[in-house]
Amino acid sequence: MSRPSQREVAVIGAGPGGLAAAMLLAKAGCRVRVFERHATPGGRTSSLREGGYRFDLGPTFFLYPRVLSEVFAQCGYDLAQEVPMKRLDPQYRLVFGDGPRQQGGQLDATPDIDRMEAEIARLSPGDEGGFTRFLRENRGKLDAFTPILESPFDRLTDLLRPEVLRSAHLLRPWRSLHSEVGRFFKDPRLQLAFTFQGKYLGMSPFQCPSLFSILAFLEYEHGVHHPIGGCGQVSERMAEIVGELGGEVRLGEPIERLVFEGRRVTCVVTGKGTYNADALVINSDFAQSMTELVPDNLRRRWKDRSLAKKQYSCSTFMMYLGLEGDLPGLAHHTIYLAPEYQKNLDDIAAGRPLADDCSVYVQAATQTDPSLAPAGCSTLYVLVPTANLGASEGRVDWQEESARMRSVVFQQLERLGVRDAENRVRVERVVKPTDWRDEHHIYRGATFNLAHNLGQMLCWRPHNRFEDLSGVYLVGGGTHPGSGLPTIYSSARIATDALLSDLAA
Ligand SMILES: Cc1cc2nc3c(=O)[nH]c(=O)nc-3n(C[C@H](O)[C@H](O)[C@H](O)COP(=O)(O)OP(=O)(O)OC[C@H]3O[C@@H](n4cnc5c(N)ncnc54)[C@H](O)[C@@H]3O)c2cc1C
Repeated sequence: MSRPSQREVAVIGAGPGGLAAAMLLAKAGCRVRVFERHATPGGRTSSLREGGYRFDLGPTFFLYPRVLSEVFAQCGYDLAQEVPMKRLDPQYRLVFGDGPRQQGGQLDATPDIDRMEAEIARLSPGDEGGFTRFLRENRGKLDAFTPILESPFDRLTDLLRPEVLRSAHLLRPWRSLHSEVGRFFKDPRLQLAFTFQGKYLGMSPFQCPSLFSILAFLEYEHGVHHPIGGCGQVSERMAEIVGELGGEVRLGEPIERLVFEGRRVTCVVTGKGTYNADALVINSDFAQSMTELVPDNLRRRWKDRSLAKKQYSCSTFMMYLGLEGDLPGLAHHTIYLAPEYQKNLDDIAAGRPLADDCSVYVQAATQTDPSLAPAGCSTLYVLVPTANLGASEGRVDWQEESARMRSVVFQQLERLGVRDAENRVRVERVVKPTDWRDEHHIYRGATFNLAHNLGQMLCWRPHNRFEDLSGVYLVGGGTHPGSGLPTIYSSARIATDALLSDLAA
């Protein structure tokens, strides 16, 4: 039997999944090398810094820090001390595009039950009783699904495990997230307030499985947290910890090639050298990594042909703005829901250009965390959900569309009460779907990976002990259990448990 300390493990990508895996493996005594294409760690969960401003590239809030806290604790660290987080209240503001704000066109979502019931009653008298019922039912659902979302699904027979059979009735596969929430609230605005979270997975609430009502529940029950310094701060601290535990994070050193013996990877190759790998963890986007790094003839299940047929999440058009001056009255998180919400979703699914009055999400993190901008200045992060490049191919030219989306963003900011933003810009960065593909190596620019329909979850999602190669383990949003930080950290725990037990066998 070999001790893990004698073994070398290569990790491709310093995203949240790769960093969590590297921490756990370094703590277990493996010789870990994380190879990261970019000059900063964190992948989509990294920071953009310019002119004294700091923006989150992707994730802007932390849900359910429990999983990462446990990873930190397992490695001898306390997450709350390493990266202090502030629970937000209100956790976000929803602005409904089809009504004047004073008449119920907005809702401040708060975890305080009395205040939330009052907010609901203001919008739709009679619906307030649904809130505690929603919390109660979803508390049971989360309890039932936690063991499922935190354990491997490597075989079809895993579907017969007792905890899966016990919770199957809660899945309600015939219901979408939207129809599920309709059981609790009759007002369409409230239905949106408890279903827009499907967008965290890049999915329409009308297609998203009803299971994901647990996302809104997680927000109200366990909080929406802002890590001080932004979500990128969590990744930066994790990369440092990998080093403190004896591992290496090699930034700006992409993996260019893998060396195989049969279906086993023996070495990884970068522009700077060739490194032995007794085991390999892949954190880079699953579909993209397969097509770039693993020859098609070595893959049995996940061939290029089958990857091309899968369903993928939406993409996003992003703007990061460093502004002069403050942002009076703006919430830390604002979600603006287009007046023609369903049409907005249909345009995204069909790959059509968006209407000017489209849904946008705006984060104004300096409202809570002034450390993110020079004194007297503010940051804005604007995310517009768009079609991925598979759906929009031949329909949208992103070079041209980008200029239009830029003016749409300033128009939507004005609608949300941000005055004169364009004239106050000191720093401006744009990331469009083609940039997600070309700079961040994400298949079809689908920012939230493989879609989370039931046919692409559990054992139908890429397994953490990768089924097509030996000694290769998968972590990250494109693998089981799914996209979103808690599940990504969970993928790292599942994959490293499998890797360590295989090395010890
Ligand atoms: C715009 C946006 C907003 C989001 N908001 C939230 C949110 O608020 N809350 C939440 O929980 N989740 C959110 N997510 C989803 C998810 O949490 C993040 O996308 C997360 O960063 C995905 O982590 P990952 O482990 O899959 O790896 P990634 O973050 O994708 O990192 C993979 C890494 O691999 C590197 N890489 C790729 N190819 C190579 C190579 N050949 N060699 C070396 N390195 C390579 C990449 O550079 C990258 O650093 C958001 C995602 C996006 C895009």
